[in-house]
Amino acid sequence: MQLYNTLSAEERAIMIDDAGKQRLTLSFYAYAKIQDPKKFRDDLFVAWNKLDALGRIYVATEGINAQMSIPEENLETFRATLEVYDFMKGIRLNEAVEHDDHSFLKLTIKVRDKIVADGLNDETFDVTNIGVHLKAKEFNEILDDPNTIVVDFRNHYESEVGHFKGAITPDVETFRESLPIINDQLQNHKEDKNLVMYCTGGIRCEKASAYFKHQGFKNVYQLEGGIINYAKQIEAEGLESKFIGKNFVFDNRLGERITEDIISQCHQCGKPCDNHTNCENDGCHLLFIQCDECKAAMENCCSTECLDIIHMPLVDQVRLRTGKQVGNKVFRKGKSDSLKFKHSGELPNTSLATAEKPLDIRQKIKVKKVLLGKAEHYYVKAQVGLFTIENHELNSGDKILISGPTTGNQELILEKMIVNEAEATTAKIGDRVTFEVPFRIRLSDKLYKIVN
Ligand SMILES: [Zn+2]
Ligand SMILES: [Zn+2]
Repeated sequence: MQLYNTLSAEERAIMIDDAGKQRLTLSFYAYAKIQDPKKFRDDLFVAWNKLDALGRIYVATEGINAQMSIPEENLETFRATLEVYDFMKGIRLNEAVEHDDHSFLKLTIKVRDKIVADGLNDETFDVTNIGVHLKAKEFNEILDDPNTIVVDFRNHYESEVGHFKGAITPDVETFRESLPIINDQLQNHKEDKNLVMYCTGGIRCEKASAYFKHQGFKNVYQLEGGIINYAKQIEAEGLESKFIGKNFVFDNRLGERITEDIISQCHQCGKPCDNHTNCENDGCHLLFIQCDECKAAMENCCSTECLDIIHMPLVDQVRLRTGKQVGNKVFRKGKSDSLKFKHSGELPNTSLATAEKPLDIRQKIKVKKVLLGKAEHYYVKAQVGLFTIENHELNSGDKILISGPTTGNQELILEKMIVNEAEATTAKIGDRVTFEVPFRIRLSDKLYKIVN
């Protein structure tokens, strides 16, 4: 029985593209007593692997916390795999606002001590005595109440690109750090104020609200389903968004836009920007915000030091990293002296710029490609590629895409081609085709035709 991934991320990305099926990005969590987390984990892996479900999932004796990508057509079958467990009957699946077929490229289910690393000793307070859940409309109403204090229970790099207007955004890297800070700050308001909290998907507030009730706060509220669910509701119900900017998410997208407001700056040049990236240097991998111009100039690096390093031969790069504790830096998530425009703690509630309207997701999907065949050889000197056609047909004038793990995705218009050693304008299944390719391609790169 297969209980672990057998494909690399690159292979998976190609398979997803070839399947051409629309995928949904979603998340959910449930607190429950799980007797045997290891068995629970293996059972889920077997059931989900069959459905081509991907994602990052934590299971523990206290429950399950999942971020996933699944083919849209398998949604109901997927839900059925959850509902075999009593504690997940009718569970709310938080669907993302923007879907990306590549949001997850592996199915990773890990058994952990806890489903959120909250660092709390749950024995000391009643974790079931939680705050009042609010839907988007109710949440908006309570934010208008002058007696309300709203707290963001996410980390500094998350609130920097988007948060609720007027929220307290603790300058913390972990959820655990934020609890005592807020407790101190609001010491004198335990009875007279509404303590309203939110996080990405609602899970952190389940514990935080119980913690604050235990600390003596009388009026504790939490956003049901977090920002993800709030965004769905304001769209569906035509409500005003009191959240501005982007919702940071923990998958390959690194964020989904909620409003057009850009509230953060490129960490390198200061221009309005809210696109997170990881430093190109594998020995650094710092999470930071970088605009397209700086990305081009710095080759996706966070500093000139890292830029120098990525131009070294690989062996030297590895030698530099060896024995060094880079983990600390990797998880420092966006704090480095070389980032001049990094902000945390108190954050602006005003828009610095307006984002260009993102392409409608449906529009993006409309750009369809059809798999034609694969690369058999590349004649380096002549810059000519040899392909075999396995599906459909190829015509001169077609817009084509050559794709592979090393090649990436390269588009070009096919002008002249040789089919079975003679010049021709059409190639059919079984034909061997050569044409000029101005970049190096690899054996087994895929050849697609782009149809709009
Ligand atoms: Zn910049
Ligand atoms: Zn770096």
